[in-house]
Amino acid sequence: MAKTIITCSFCGRDKRSAKMLIAGQSAHICEVCVSEAYKIVSAESEQSQKETAKQTLTMLKPDAIKKYMDEYIIGQDQAKKVMSVAVYNHFKRISNPNHVIEKEEIEIEKSNIILVGETGTGKTLMARTIAKLLNVPFCIADATVLTEAGYVGEDVESVLSRLLQAANFDVPSTERGIVFIDEMDKIARKGDNASITRDVSGEGVQQGLLKLLEGSIVNVPPQGGRKHPEQKMIQVNTKNILFICGGAFDGIEKIIARRLNTQAIGFTSSVNAGEVDRGNMLQYILPQDLKTFGLIPELIGRLPITTYMSSLDAKTLRRILTEPKNALVKQYQSLFKMDEIDLEFDEAVYDLIVGKALEYKLGARGLRGICEAIMLDLMYEVPSQKNPPKTFTVTLDYAMQKLSKVNLGSLMAA
Ligand code: ADP
Repeated sequence: MAKTIITCSFCGRDKRSAKMLIAGQSAHICEVCVSEAYKIVSAESEQSQKETAKQTLTMLKPDAIKKYMDEYIIGQDQAKKVMSVAVYNHFKRISNPNHVIEKEEIEIEKSNIILVGETGTGKTLMARTIAKLLNVPFCIADATVLTEAGYVGEDVESVLSRLLQAANFDVPSTERGIVFIDEMDKIARKGDNASITRDVSGEGVQQGLLKLLEGSIVNVPPQGGRKHPEQKMIQVNTKNILFICGGAFDGIEKIIARRLNTQAIGFTSSVNAGEVDRGNMLQYILPQDLKTFGLIPELIGRLPITTYMSSLDAKTLRRILTEPKNALVKQYQSLFKMDEIDLEFDEAVYDLIVGKALEYKLGARGLRGICEAIMLDLMYEVPSQKNPPKTFTVTLDYAMQKLSKVNLGSLMAA
């Protein structure tokens, strides 16, 4: 009886000339065809990635990006403008990796961003809004938990573990994501005596972050934390990952003021000393101020775009309460609408909420706590009422009465 000769169903190689024949349900494939098929699939997926990036690019010009941000973020016009241009350029860069002008190949640098501003001024909101708009994976990492390799804490690579998780472990999608690293000011160099006690959570971390920010292939522990030799690593190329770093940089205003003063004495002044707006020093921030604060020059070099978030005044807080697409007031109204109740607020209630947020220095983040204190009883009682009212107006008296029962000071720690 003749023996059936097994051959590769794609190229026809038989068992003797192929190193390996992998069996399928009613076919076989040799190692050469597997490798060829892999090349085709990789090329196709790279092409489709480029197409997607191009499509996003053609859809979104900087003014469109800013308009979208306007729907969610109140004020902060300068930061929004800087961010929309940076994001636009980032996508241009991704879709034209080796742009040639008059036979010269120009490599466009990565536009990682550093956002300086008090806590609660919307830095995270800004990064999150951009990620939502671009429909790319997004994660928030906290620089304070990172330490230099070998010390208690998390390896810098764990920042990318979060992004991988956000992308459902899809590596190509991770490689186009956005990472927001918060509390960057907390890893500033602490004085010049690093040789006495090693600065494992400051300069060491800054050094560690360099390779992530500049674009390289990084071994990422999928579950984050510390790298273990026995753990299987996933390789991620950070070349096209956009890093947005945020921090309050407490006291940087003084550094800026000092620089402006010395500049004003010399001839290099770009800002006339008489015109300096002392109420908003952050608007004059330059990379050199971050260096004076304690970021190492190499790191600053990899964060070429510096911008700032202004602190929030009463007018802005009031707008934050009512205007954004998902403003707090709109959220409460839509919650009550589900119970078929039209919820209204007296204008004076907004002023009361904003006033309390400023008095207790709670910022925009505190608005929610204050609103909750006013609304809690109502949200508790109304759903089980036999004949709930068709409309309910939160009056100033009502709000004041509810607020008098809570200790707003306790919200400060939250
Ligand atoms: P940061 O990252 O600067 O500490 P967040 O982005 O976490 O601040 O802001 C805290 C909350 O305050 C946000 O969830 C948002 O609701 C609100 N908020 C802050 N700034 C703004 C703003 N400019 N426009 C709209 N909402 C804001």
